[in-house]
Amino acid sequence: MSDLTLETGEDIVRVMCECCGNEKKRVWGFVSKSGDAHAVYYALLNVTEERPRVGLTLSIGPWWEDTEPSQRSWCQIDIQTEPDNFQFEIKDPKESNFYPWEKGGNPLSAEQVAASGMTDEIQIVSKFIVQTDPAISSYLDGHAINSVGRGPRDADGQQHSC
Ligand SMILES: [Zn+2]
Repeated sequence: MSDLTLETGEDIVRVMCECCGNEKKRVWGFVSKSGDAHAVYYALLNVTEERPRVGLTLSIGPWWEDTEPSQRSWCQIDIQTEPDNFQFEIKDPKESNFYPWEKGGNPLSAEQVAASGMTDEIQIVSKFIVQTDPAISSYLDGHAINSVGRGPRDADGQQHSC
């Protein structure tokens, strides 16, 4: 998928979960397809868990100027690593702490993703993000988080993020 390019957001946000007090990290970024803004994502890195697990909130659709949220859709994806394999699971969008994320467009459940024919596109873009974003890929590989291009920041207040 060489027509996809990625731009990382400027910070790594430290989040303290309001239900368990566990620390998490959040990063965000943009994906372009053939030069057009195509996706926006937030990734929650569950850094205190034994196995790397990412909660990816992903909106796909036109994101350039003069586009409307109704032209886009978003979903919540749980991503875990297995040896030589990424595991994706589309969750209920209400589990996202961004819900209802109106700017992201229409929230889709796993059934709605399948019915809309977007499964392949979501998998391609998700895989591209977790392999290309240096913070996410380093975390999923079990290394220290690669913070290149980003600075640390604390979240405003606590958030439920399990
Ligand atoms: Zn929690």
